[in-house]
Amino acid sequence: MLIRILAVLLFAYLCWRWFRQREQRSEAARQPAQAGQLLPCRRCGTLVPEQEALQRDGQFYCSETHAQQEKEL
Ligand SMILES: [Zn+2]
Repeated sequence: MLIRILAVLLFAYLCWRWFRQREQRSEAARQPAQAGQLLPCRRCGTLVPEQEALQRDGQFYCSETHAQQEKEL
């Protein structure tokens, strides 16, 4: 009887450990995407997260204004 209880507890512990490892792994995989890469604006040099940066002709800009100003010059 005692052995059965221990077996159930061991099984529950292993499940819990497996879940925790899986959570930690998915969190680690998510973090780099959230942080993103910082790119300098070609016009003013402000660092902008990759997702928010505007791309024009292979160059990155912090805002539409700077992208247009660079084009006019
Ligand atoms: Zn700028």
